[in-house]
Amino acid sequence: MHADIEKVYQESLQRNPTQPEFQQAVREVIDSVEPLIIARKDYQDAEILARVIEPERQIMFRVAWEDDQRHVRVNRGYRIQFNSALGPYKGGLRFHKSVTLSVVKFLGFEQIFKNALTGQGIGGGKGGSDFDPHGKSDSEVMRFCQAFMTELSRHIGADVDVPAGDIGVGAREIGYLFGQYKRLSNRNEAGVLTGKGLNWGGSLARTEATGYGLVTFAQAMLGEQGLDMEGMKVLVSGSGNVATYAIEKAQSLGAKPISISDSSGAVYDPDGIDVELLKQVKQVERGRVSDYAQRRPNAQFRAGERVWGIAGDIALPCATQNEMNEAEVATLVKNGVKLIAEGANMPLTPQAIEAAQASHILYAPGKASNAGGVATSALEMQQNAGLTQWPFVKVENRLDKIMLDIHRECLETAHEFGKPGDYLVGANIAGFRKVADAMLDQGII
Ligand code: NDP
Repeated sequence: MHADIEKVYQESLQRNPTQPEFQQAVREVIDSVEPLIIARKDYQDAEILARVIEPERQIMFRVAWEDDQRHVRVNRGYRIQFNSALGPYKGGLRFHKSVTLSVVKFLGFEQIFKNALTGQGIGGGKGGSDFDPHGKSDSEVMRFCQAFMTELSRHIGADVDVPAGDIGVGAREIGYLFGQYKRLSNRNEAGVLTGKGLNWGGSLARTEATGYGLVTFAQAMLGEQGLDMEGMKVLVSGSGNVATYAIEKAQSLGAKPISISDSSGAVYDPDGIDVELLKQVKQVERGRVSDYAQRRPNAQFRAGERVWGIAGDIALPCATQNEMNEAEVATLVKNGVKLIAEGANMPLTPQAIEAAQASHILYAPGKASNAGGVATSALEMQQNAGLTQWPFVKVENRLDKIMLDIHRECLETAHEFGKPGDYLVGANIAGFRKVADAMLDQGII
């Protein structure tokens, strides 16, 4: 590593000693953008790298709420306002017991470059809490969301910071959060959150956008190689928002998704996933993938396992960070996988990414391939600003175009830097360059 870049990296390691996920995300970006920084003396003089890896603002707060038995519970809330060079901070909220400062910072850091790739004029941020929604009643979720928003409301706004959903935060939680923001601010500020209900400011196709966009991106990658998804078997992990709509879109292109998972285990359904049953089990009944398996004639639930041991042509990790390791990539490659595209954020470990790239299968980093969700959130903000709601097909067409533009930009940038076909280098450099140029324009802040 170049000496000046190494110095910045070492300082970041020392400053954030207990943040492994954040350090992992920083390292991945630095490794990719090194040639760009070496070539740009103006970036070096302005200490762009040192500034971009330090969040503009980090907010941590206590969230106290009462459960149904009137016991007081205490959680921790976070909002990382990472970079506003391109527009208001934008990024989801995650409610999961695994949430830490490190997790929220890695997600916020990734979000900066993802949002830049969308070309939609949005900065990067992320937030959440170690609140675990599993097993909580509706009333408990509502009280938690209200307590969380009571503090968060001081820091957000349509032109300031616009949160959305992520793991554990779906339509129900966004509704409770928006209701409390409205009560506190006494304003109906639709643009303050995205992922809203369709009859109060939400965008059609936002629910579907991340999964649909992921599959559009994967299909474009295959298209570059003269391949098509039709008839291919698809391994999907997760069973939430991203996984469900990736499955739906892949089916619409004639592919056959054959797996889902959650934190209790994996399901192999050789007949192809029944996406309507999946929605019923997960979205309506709030059940587990084992409940899905029980209602399918040939499906197997494999407790404690992941899906990567099943044979397939395409792998779409759509659950969480570091859910695929090097050995699992080796198994996938041995079983004939042609493409891995990330639906989740940072689902592959660094060693898994190396293994995928070394084996010459196609690999797409999440900041490019899962950017469809946030891109459509930006379209929701545009509709809110214009007091309008576009038809589904208009949003979907815009989403498709954005994903294909990102795909092209990744390939062109990778080519420019002597790494043809390397989507990781292309995505990191293309995103970083947009942010860095805006930071240069805006002076030392
Ligand atoms: P959901 O909460 O809807 O679903 C998450 C799924 O992942 C659930 O099936 C969950 O199972 C599983 N999961 C979570 N943690 C673990 C774990 N430690 N081990 C195994 N399975 C786990 O979230 P989303 O679908 O919205 O998000 C999935 C991923 O996609 C995340 O990485 C998110 O950051 C990313 N993403 C989401 C976007 C969106 O628009 N929603 C946009 C871009 C990226 P369980 O219920 O058992 O925890």
